[in-house]
Amino acid sequence: ALAVSLRGVTKVYDTGVMALGPLDLAVRKGEFISLLGPSGCGKSTALRLIAGLSQASSGTVRVSRHEGEVQIGHIRQGHGIGFVFQEPTLMPWSSVRENVRLPLKLGGIAKAEGRARADAALASVGLADFADAFPRELSGGMKMRVSLARALVTDPDILLMDEPFAALDEITRFRLNNDLLALWRSLGKTVIFVTHSVFESVYLSQRVVVMTARPGRIQADIRIETVEPRG
Ligand code: ADP
Ligand code: ADP
Repeated sequence: ALAVSLRGVTKVYDTGVMALGPLDLAVRKGEFISLLGPSGCGKSTALRLIAGLSQASSGTVRVSRHEGEVQIGHIRQGHGIGFVFQEPTLMPWSSVRENVRLPLKLGGIAKAEGRARADAALASVGLADFADAFPRELSGGMKMRVSLARALVTDPDILLMDEPFAALDEITRFRLNNDLLALWRSLGKTVIFVTHSVFESVYLSQRVVVMTARPGRIQADIRIETVEPRG
């Protein structure tokens, strides 16, 4: 079954810039793929189209929805999509727990349940002891973990990550790579991961989709064979 399917998708911005495509891409449920390509080739644009944050100029974007799930408030507004940006964009005046709870709060989930789910999401990223801390007290790597917890708290089917670790030092980045892999193996979510790093793409994903310079099209679609079975 497919999680995401793009067919003949192009994006031309109001400025006249043709940012993307035509792009054809099919991502299976549970797959971990990387989008790799030069700056400005349209990787972020592709993620925004998948997330429904922007409309394609032509072509079709299909995202599988939760089967049989009731749509509650805004929770499923992104079709069960979690988004992690390069900047963690945490609210400085709210605790870590409240930052992670925000999507549930917007979705009308009661406070007690929201707090419990936020704490569980924080535990899954190794920050169980930091729920009452404030963002300013955290390191860059920890802020990114909070951002990941916030994306996971609604239990999305699909996780879109836009160069999430690019601003972190190499050791922190490597730790986060390993923890993300462990999470993916245990949660079984579809992950689309945008990166500039060839190492990161090959290390993390089952499939590396290489894009051309703008307008981004697919240049290569490479299956990564692993010695150790995954998933
Ligand atoms: P990447 O993520 O691969 O670096 P982007 O998707 O951010 O690429 O951008 C692709 C191209 O579209 C770039 O030339 C960028 O300047 C342009 N672009 C991105 N967002 C907008 C926008 N909102 N309005 C106009 N042009 C944009
Ligand atoms: P940075 O992104 O600044 O390199 P890290 O995320 O690696 O930071 O964490 C910096 C420090 O914060 C660590 O050395 C550790 O002491 C503390 N820290 C990070 N994560 C945890 C955690 N889950 N539990 C306790 N301490 C942590």
